[in-house]
Amino acid sequence: MPKPLIIHHPDSLMHETGMLHPERSARVGAVLSGLKEVEHRLARAANREELQWVHPTEYIELVKQEIGDGKELLSTGDVVLSAGSWGAAVTAAGGAMDAVDAAFEGFRPFVATRPPGHHAEAAKGMGFCIFNNAALAARYAQIKKGLERVLIADFDVHHGNGTEAIFWDDPSVFYFSTHQHPLYPGTGLESKDHIVNYPISAGDNSRDEVLKAFETLPGLMDVFKPDLVIISAGFDAHSFDPLGGFNLNDKDFYRLTEILVQIADKHAEGRVISCLEGGYSLEALAVSAKTHVDALSK
Ligand SMILES: [Zn+2]
Repeated sequence: MPKPLIIHHPDSLMHETGMLHPERSARVGAVLSGLKEVEHRLARAANREELQWVHPTEYIELVKQEIGDGKELLSTGDVVLSAGSWGAAVTAAGGAMDAVDAAFEGFRPFVATRPPGHHAEAAKGMGFCIFNNAALAARYAQIKKGLERVLIADFDVHHGNGTEAIFWDDPSVFYFSTHQHPLYPGTGLESKDHIVNYPISAGDNSRDEVLKAFETLPGLMDVFKPDLVIISAGFDAHSFDPLGGFNLNDKDFYRLTEILVQIADKHAEGRVISCLEGGYSLEALAVSAKTHVDALSK
């Protein structure tokens, strides 16, 4: 029986964006509130060498410098900074890599850290994201664990432009995304062999469209045959979400997760990890994250 595991770190709370910012510290408490019974592990900090697998040195230096200088906004994009943002960003990245280790120990880990990562491009943090946690986990799996092919499946209501850009020319990582269009950041309209995007209109049909899109993924994976499944788990596709216009309910996150677990069981010796991306209704986040972790451990 695969074991659930929550990976988190108190530094996630030190990335202060303000009470009124949607991507705020209270999100982590909401996620953890329903998962008290699950085994927990503290995330480690990613080191410089690991960050460089995805992000150029100049960008890493820029982030560190701007946080150190007390800048309130990251100059590359819309990310609010505070004194604790560096610690939060490196433990969010390190936690995603810890999750890969845990997957080899028979866990199905969910990394409940912030800031999220899927909008962060190699040299451009944006959309509340500093480092691309899921992309770093994929590189860790390839470089440190010797895995060849990784699927990153992203059900966040926004398109993961950063993840797509990082792997656009790298067919060893398959990126699959359902997302609302039009919506920030406006990308994700084009697909190619190992990049598959489903831009979907907001509204009543969005739930069916997302589920239908995910039902196509097992067939794609029968060809790609991933060695690891990474979930970019954004719960802002929930009908309660204040930023998204999709109408998924908590049970739908169970179904999406179940599809991904089945892919991992079939191709990846059961290895699947999940990283928290968006989700801005605290109520929806608490219930959906619990549903997601339930499905991960089935
Ligand atoms: Zn999002």
